[in-house]
Amino acid sequence: MNIAYAFKKSQDLCRSSLKLIGLKLHERWTPERLQDYQRRRLRALFAHAVRRSPFYRELYQNIKIGPEVQLQELPVITKAMMMDAFDRFVTDTRLKLADLQTHIRDLSCDTYYLGEYRVLTTSGSSGFKGVFVFNRKEWSTLIAGYSRCSLSTGKLPRFPRRLRECSIFTDNPAHLSCRIKISSGTPLVLSKHLNAASSIAFLVAELNAFQPHVLSTYPSMASLLAVEQIEGRLKIHLELVATGGETCTGEMTASIQKAWGIIPFNVYASTEGGAFNIGCPFHRGIHAAEDLTILEVVDRNNRPVPAGRAGSKVLLTNLFNYTQPLIRYEISDMLTLSEERCPCGRPFRLIAGVEGRYDDILYFPDSRGHSVPVHPVHFITALGIIPDIKESRVIHEQDGLVIDVVLRDTGDKTKVVDAIKTNLAASLKIQGIELPETRVLFTDHIERNPETMGKFKLVESGMKKPATGAPP
Ligand SMILES: [Zn+2]
Repeated sequence: MNIAYAFKKSQDLCRSSLKLIGLKLHERWTPERLQDYQRRRLRALFAHAVRRSPFYRELYQNIKIGPEVQLQELPVITKAMMMDAFDRFVTDTRLKLADLQTHIRDLSCDTYYLGEYRVLTTSGSSGFKGVFVFNRKEWSTLIAGYSRCSLSTGKLPRFPRRLRECSIFTDNPAHLSCRIKISSGTPLVLSKHLNAASSIAFLVAELNAFQPHVLSTYPSMASLLAVEQIEGRLKIHLELVATGGETCTGEMTASIQKAWGIIPFNVYASTEGGAFNIGCPFHRGIHAAEDLTILEVVDRNNRPVPAGRAGSKVLLTNLFNYTQPLIRYEISDMLTLSEERCPCGRPFRLIAGVEGRYDDILYFPDSRGHSVPVHPVHFITALGIIPDIKESRVIHEQDGLVIDVVLRDTGDKTKVVDAIKTNLAASLKIQGIELPETRVLFTDHIERNPETMGKFKLVESGMKKPATGAPP
């Protein structure tokens, strides 16, 4: 191992351990103290962005700021705005988009850019790819947030019978799920990373050989492996399943619980925020890491959506990334904040649900020819309640729906086709839509796309969305 790299990495990890102590103390704050902290951090971030980023200086030039920054009065930033103006957006003039993209293309491990930065990209599953840069101090904060999230599951590093942890996401270090594991690895935990785009047979063989105590992966992958466990091909004894990156449906949770007798911990993190929100043993939702980010749940017109209702998107303000300040940055995740406070006493609000992405919505004509938006949850539920289906994917094409289905061993094809059409017709009818032409294709497995980090979209549109057909 390169000695200079090893030295820098240990420095970063030491800094993150100190930061972790601070983050754990924040969990004892009152909501009022947290809000006061957010106000001060926002004020500092705003001042830095105006001073060091030509993009923000220009964007905010006509905005009068009093002693307090009123977040809701600031304009929303989109990925397109940020990427178009990238070289003027970041606060270090040495960071140029073209060079960073070359660095990402050639990245094979946890390499520092300019000896200082870690560069990430997003999967691009919802459009073009974003690029995100963190300096060493910011990366230490990111690791501290990740460690806090891991600690909240109750699984602590142990000795001499060390914890064996396997993660199945992507093997590309330009993606957060892979990079965080490489850059935060310690000898106290035996880690293994597998690529979600591998075949199930390969993953089962690797897991049987490694015998992990902890499994972190997409919920669709965890539930697929749960079937392997239930049917006897996979034989591992998990103490913890952590899922993230996709919607975890009730059926997936039930399947995981049946296989290993444990409720999965859902993790919600975004590359943009670089913050890992915190699972809670009370399983009432996920605590937003509000000492690291501010999340505004809004409708499609950026108006606040009250707790208890799903928003169309999230406006994210990252309170610790000063290299690439993100202030009211639009993310298409549809979140619902809980109306309740959690009995665990943390001051952070609970995210009650992460219901897919705004751009997963499909549109169908009703009887009057009007375009009606249909949330992916309708398809997920209609197919999820059919016990003979092991895995499925819905694709909306010009001439109707194409549904790929992997059957369980005991499944009857005719009965499954009938059940799919009956359930979908009933679900769409409630919204005034007639079931379009539906083709069910049976297959041995559904390919995971390495381009999207092996992430699995349960519902996809193969068509352009109508110009006026945004969700309500
Ligand atoms: Zn809690």
